[in-house]
Amino acid sequence: MVEKRRWTVRDLRRDNQAGLLWALFSSQPCSRQDLSDATGLSVASVSNVVRDLISDGIVTEAGSVDSDGGRPRVLLRMDPGYGHLVGIDVGETRVRVELFDLTMAVRAKADYPLDPSEHGVDLVVDRISAGLANVLSHADVDPADVIGGGIAVPGMVEQGSTAHGSEVLVYGQTYGWDAVPLERLLRPAARFPLYIDNGAKTMGQAELWFGAGRGVRQAVVCLIGSGLGASIITGASRSREDSSVSVEWGHTTINMGGRPCRCGSLGCLEAYVGAEAILDRYGLPLPGEDEESALAALAESADARAAEVLGETAATLGAGIANLINLFGPERVILGGWAGLLLGERLLPAIREAARQHSLTHRFAQTSIELGRLGPDAVALGAATLPMMHFLNGTLALRARTPDDRVAG
Ligand SMILES: [Zn+2]
Repeated sequence: MVEKRRWTVRDLRRDNQAGLLWALFSSQPCSRQDLSDATGLSVASVSNVVRDLISDGIVTEAGSVDSDGGRPRVLLRMDPGYGHLVGIDVGETRVRVELFDLTMAVRAKADYPLDPSEHGVDLVVDRISAGLANVLSHADVDPADVIGGGIAVPGMVEQGSTAHGSEVLVYGQTYGWDAVPLERLLRPAARFPLYIDNGAKTMGQAELWFGAGRGVRQAVVCLIGSGLGASIITGASRSREDSSVSVEWGHTTINMGGRPCRCGSLGCLEAYVGAEAILDRYGLPLPGEDEESALAALAESADARAAEVLGETAATLGAGIANLINLFGPERVILGGWAGLLLGERLLPAIREAARQHSLTHRFAQTSIELGRLGPDAVALGAATLPMMHFLNGTLALRARTPDDRVAG
């Protein structure tokens, strides 16, 4: 008979610490009293946990504020110098590597354009490895001071079994990745824990924590670049639980027997409103021109054919969004990704109107369609939230470091 595992004092301490770290991370700087209010722990318990966290170098004091008539309250925050996190966005048009401190402030970034037709695994692994070396050297950070990293990829990410045991595998049918063990391939370059997930999902988590999704419990986040992805966030605001799933929205059929899609099917949404498809319908990019410049030029163009292509794009994208609204009933739809932001800035009213026409009235009345607030870097920032979640939950090993260690670097 299997004996149920008992909840130990150690478990309780770890749970209290996780609750307190999440509360501090969400509203830093804040006082011990604020943390007590946010977690339900007594001020004495908060003080005990905080004392340990300060001694480990994870939390530091950050000045004080006057309290009503009483003693000034000492403010606390995460200690940015405790360790660093890496966020990597493997997009179809670029690999972006960003280094963050423990407060999620960007310390360095590196960007490598990719030709969407050149997406070989070796090339991408090479760019990521170069990017890691670049940001660490630029910020003068020792690789041993990186707590963990996150990688956002287009396509599906699944745990699978291989000759090497159970590992994370990436499937990107449109760019030829089939069960790629990306984490294992990056181990020589990244000697810290790496977490991999879909880019729409990491962008969604960034917008949920820091951007257009703050305070929202049900949201759909649409990532539009060369291709399309979406993540469905259910039942959570900034949370200790992973509360989202990614869906292959780009490969839902919008037109029976329509344009050929990169996935091999016909009439997928992505074959109309992915950046590559929009440009193809207009006759761009010119040889040697990259997709991002070409789409910006198309969006600025005054000619009648450009207006027609953009009008069709807004109408089709609106219909695709209406499908998500009717299926999932989100409080908010957030458009992001470099192409989503570029198109959204010019076409949002037309996209909203098309979504209204194709949505059920009651569903549409309960939702809003907005642009992401974090810009095109949201995918990399979201990737760095993957190790941060594990760090805050205490499932990524916390390094106990003394103040002497930190001075010694
Ligand atoms: Zn498709």
